[in-house]
Amino acid sequence: MFHGDIVSHRWELTLQNLPEEGYFWDTLISPREINEVSATAAEPVEGLVEDVVWQGSLVRKGQVFRLTGQWQACIRRTCCRCLRSFDWHVAGDLERDFQLGVTGPDECMDDVLDPPGHISLVDILREEIWLSWRSDVICREDCAGLCSGCGVNLNASSCRCKKVDDDHPFAVLRQLDLGKDH
Ligand SMILES: [Zn+2]
Ligand SMILES: [Zn+2]
Repeated sequence: MFHGDIVSHRWELTLQNLPEEGYFWDTLISPREINEVSATAAEPVEGLVEDVVWQGSLVRKGQVFRLTGQWQACIRRTCCRCLRSFDWHVAGDLERDFQLGVTGPDECMDDVLDPPGHISLVDILREEIWLSWRSDVICREDCAGLCSGCGVNLNASSCRCKKVDDDHPFAVLRQLDLGKDH
């Protein structure tokens, strides 16, 4: 759903042409679209399970173009505890200020762009997904992980370490009471 007539190529915007009332979007972006090659490409996001929710606005306040938005994605990941794949639900909010012109010392918080100021909402979304990336994701809060002894997935079955020990040829030694009578 789009308002404003400034889309030259789908997700490309030109700040200088921003309409008075600003620009608003509330849409879904497919995994393929998110990873379309572009000039300022962040790395592609692998494993997107479904379309990414992407809502936001871009409005001008004086010399500043303020982009506010939120997104939600579902990405196939590997649990760092039990090593099974699962759907990682991740979401984020962002607020970014853009300016046209040259970078000044007190403007370092802003993204300063050469006029007329091209931005890609897909590039920004992809960057935001990477900023929220975590390597230590778990399939669920109480994931019990793998036993470091027997390697069994403790979510699905119980540890076999004890059993393995009992089958060991020397396990019988444990049953002798060595300290009692000598
Ligand atoms: Zn897990
Ligand atoms: Zn075990």
